[in-house]
Amino acid sequence: MSDVFSKIPKEITSFINGRWIDANPEATRLPVISPATGEAISILVEADENEVALAVQCAKETFKSGVWSKASVDNRKAVLLKLRDLILKNKDIIAKMEVSNTGIPIAQAYGRQIPRSALNFEFFAEFISQSSNPVYDQNPNYMTYVRREPVGVAGIIAPWNAPMALASMKLAGAIAFGNSCVFKPSELTPLGFICFMELLSEAGLPDGVINMVNGSGLVTGAAITANEDVDVIAFTGGTETGRIISAKAGNTLKRTVTELGGKSANIIFADADFDRALDSALVAIFSNNGQQCLAGSRILVEKRIEDKFIKAFVARTKNLKIGDPMNMSVEIGPLISKAQFDKVLRFSSLAKLHDGIEILAGGKAPAGFDKGYYFEPTVVRADDNKRVVCQEEIFGPFATILSFDSEAEAYEIANDSKFGLVAYVWSTDIRKIMRAQAEIRAGVIWVNTPLTRELRAPFGGFKHSGVGRDGGEWSRNLFTEEKTVSIPLTDFPIAKLGMGG
Ligand code: NAP
Repeated sequence: MSDVFSKIPKEITSFINGRWIDANPEATRLPVISPATGEAISILVEADENEVALAVQCAKETFKSGVWSKASVDNRKAVLLKLRDLILKNKDIIAKMEVSNTGIPIAQAYGRQIPRSALNFEFFAEFISQSSNPVYDQNPNYMTYVRREPVGVAGIIAPWNAPMALASMKLAGAIAFGNSCVFKPSELTPLGFICFMELLSEAGLPDGVINMVNGSGLVTGAAITANEDVDVIAFTGGTETGRIISAKAGNTLKRTVTELGGKSANIIFADADFDRALDSALVAIFSNNGQQCLAGSRILVEKRIEDKFIKAFVARTKNLKIGDPMNMSVEIGPLISKAQFDKVLRFSSLAKLHDGIEILAGGKAPAGFDKGYYFEPTVVRADDNKRVVCQEEIFGPFATILSFDSEAEAYEIANDSKFGLVAYVWSTDIRKIMRAQAEIRAGVIWVNTPLTRELRAPFGGFKHSGVGRDGGEWSRNLFTEEKTVSIPLTDFPIAKLGMGG
């Protein structure tokens, strides 16, 4: 067992105005479970509507004080860079805390999730020091320019699948532009943020700029969405929750961005670099235990190479190392929860019922794992994209392989989905690639590469994969208000009303 477990607090409250508040004896207690053992490793003291209101009030007052919202860009940049340094300095403990409640293999937490969290702060530090605002000087009588000001209080609601990496993208964007935040991680995964919140004051961020409330979506999350003093909601999570949050946020006219689910196509043409496409297909579906919005969960293979691909993909899948996520050589850890395990198992059972679906690997809990929510990496071959395993987001180590004959058929299958988050295309024919990137309806197209996130570029989905984008100027649009200022340059004539006659 890792030494990290001795560092996990017994009870976790909310972090408001720079400190952990005292636990309310009346509050609901929610267990934080280790997915690797199924045992409770901490207790979350749920923030109710009143506690959320306290956090929002604190964020609002901090915003109004100007201590951060009017701080100079140089000051904000320095704090963000210091936060980056502190995350990297504390990478070991943050990664272990994150792994202890997510089950993400630690090599991936070290290699990807925590460095990405640090990069988010670095990116926005650089962005604010480089960005400029437009000036319109075509009219000789006026100079008109655009100011950008922070929106106010940002409500940030994050999912459990990559807690630090995803929440920090929103937190970094919100504070870079001068907002204050009320942030709620998933009730399943608060632990990485315990260390993070304690770094804020060391980095020089004034108290009250980032407040964290803990609890379930239905209680704590809903209270953030409903609060009149929250000006903008940045939500990352499931499509159904996104629908509820958007509707509620509409009641109080909040600006909202939703980053939701996916069922992304990974199209592999026969002319692709086979080995790279194979490596990438495994990374795209099995990293993060398959629990990724951008997972390449529908692998579309051109018929000519179908047998060869399936043989190689299944062999590599069966060879993936399942085990304790704290072990550096483990490639697949447990699923996040019993509910998620049951969901993935249900899809596996459904797959077994259909004649047109063949289970080629996995489909059940691995032998020898009596505790925890481990699930074997699973590969199914489907005869038709209409099958439920091709249409629903399973959110686990569950790859579905389909085949196609022609380019047109590949794009038709790729687009036959309610989702449209990302798509992967593998080919060495540049004209085919250019046709593919135009035909596929998804927010991001990755050509001959797995999972490449360019923070300057927009990220977000078409259709049920979300509304709005983040990254670079898209995050700026979300977290700033634009103000147009016009200043006359000449004493041009003004109509004289009320002069009589
Ligand atoms: P989720 O169940 O929708 O929860 C996301 C967050 O919303 C959690 O903090 C949750 O709290 C909270 N929440 C739930 N109901 C709420 C409500 N009525 N009002 C306010 N907040 C509420 O999603 P998840 O299961 O954590 O995450 C997996 C999903 O996220 C997948 O569909 C995945 O594709 C998607 N995702 C999308 C992206 C993207 O960038 N597009 C990235 C990552 C994940 P509790 O968990 O505490 O209940």
